[in-house]
Amino acid sequence: MFLTISTTGDEQHPATDLGFLLHKHPDRAFSANLSYGTAHVLYPEADALRCTAALLLEVDAVALVRKGKGKGRGGAPDAALAQYVNDRPYAASSLLAVALSSVFSSAMKGVCRARPERAAQPLPLHVEIPALPARGGPMLVRRLFEPLGWAVTAEPVALDAEFPEWGDSRYVRLALDSEALTLAEALRHLYVLLPVLDDAKHYWVASDEVDKLLRAGEGWLPGHPEQKLITSRYLSRRWSLTREAMERLELVRLAEADDSEVEDIDNAVEAETETEEKPTPLAVLRRDAIIEALHASGAARVLDLGCGQGQLVQALLKDARFTEIVGVDVSMRALTIASRRLKLDRMGERQASRVKLFQGSLAYTDKRLKGYDAAVLSEVVEHLDLPRLPALEYAVFGAARPRTVLVTTPNVEYNVRWESLPAGHVRHGDHRFEWTREEFRTWARAVAERHGYDVEFVPVGPDDPEVGPPTQMAVFEMGATVRKNVDVKEAKAA
Ligand code: SAH
Repeated sequence: MFLTISTTGDEQHPATDLGFLLHKHPDRAFSANLSYGTAHVLYPEADALRCTAALLLEVDAVALVRKGKGKGRGGAPDAALAQYVNDRPYAASSLLAVALSSVFSSAMKGVCRARPERAAQPLPLHVEIPALPARGGPMLVRRLFEPLGWAVTAEPVALDAEFPEWGDSRYVRLALDSEALTLAEALRHLYVLLPVLDDAKHYWVASDEVDKLLRAGEGWLPGHPEQKLITSRYLSRRWSLTREAMERLELVRLAEADDSEVEDIDNAVEAETETEEKPTPLAVLRRDAIIEALHASGAARVLDLGCGQGQLVQALLKDARFTEIVGVDVSMRALTIASRRLKLDRMGERQASRVKLFQGSLAYTDKRLKGYDAAVLSEVVEHLDLPRLPALEYAVFGAARPRTVLVTTPNVEYNVRWESLPAGHVRHGDHRFEWTREEFRTWARAVAERHGYDVEFVPVGPDDPEVGPPTQMAVFEMGATVRKNVDVKEAKAA
């Protein structure tokens, strides 16, 4: 299993800079043990005019089967080459993709201290993969790579060259050429699209694969005409993960449309008329419903508990009625993305004084959550194991005690209306449960009763006569008598 990457250059910009960009020296063969074999990087040619790096993967079939540890350091590169020639046809390219990301991880991120300017610039690139398993054949290969700016040559490989009447194998010989891409972009295309073409991952696809896909797909996957096929195959057709990824890609697309609105009014108008024809995503309807309920409650200082990647915080910031907005999440990664989305580091002092993000768990009482007008828990409760729910209840309704609490959660009855959701599946891989309207109401009424709140229920999204709305929202308001007592207590304390 191998692939080559070549570039051309001149005396001023030597092609051998490829070695710096890949962080692998052209004069030294490099080997790395991976859990299922050994990866080698070598340079069949390396001069100022032309430089080619080859990534060779020597698969250890036993390790692959046992998923055991890598074997000891492999032999000389030429021994590896010999083994490749004899290699059996399980050239699963998800293995090659994993090898790419482990051997060229810095290059994939576009990091290059020695030649930063070249890492950021498009290069003349030529990629070759002599035997790529490609379900969907040369046609699909073109549909995947051409929209990304590659000139594609994909030839089917005959099952046996001596017997053409046997027809083609499922392999293609692939050659890609481009002068418009950076090396990092090229590697990220390969990292995602090789396993997509192979369509059979050698490992169990867990929910962190969504993050990997979105990271590698940044800048090119949102808006790719085959986005759906890429996402679903990359995630081994796991429906809940695919849906999560598609929703997040849609948010990226919306966020990008948002940005262009600021930069270029003409584009924004165009984007707007475009989105008008599509149904509004549920996530947007949910945010609108939450903001409306916050307005109705008159809240100015708001907690977004389990704020995730900060979409609601961002929307609240645009509304001057909200003078203080605090996003809390247990996931540092989500908070990092949120702070990037909000551009916290570039925000003016006045805006910055209105917003705060911090890490915290809702399963514990937290003094920092006291004294706010309202708290939002948007699509959060279903991420906690049921036995942890009383802890969250106490932390929010018992200890923090804002006057208004909004809780949204999926209505499981509506799931039969999602065409592509297999019966009995939850909507998101991390959902510990999904409630019927009755179950949610029973829980919410008991919570209200225990902590002195009144509760009402608001449908979010189309309210189906049989199964109800896709999202259900409970609006808790602290009862009038309780509120008075709180005011008296606060006055005394002051
Ligand atoms: N409120 C956002 C995100 C919902 S996803 C939205 O509506 O889009 C659920 C979020 O809850 C995730 O970001 C997860 O990290 C967070 N979460 C899960 N358990 C939590 C806990 N115990 N404490 C705080 N946040 C939690």
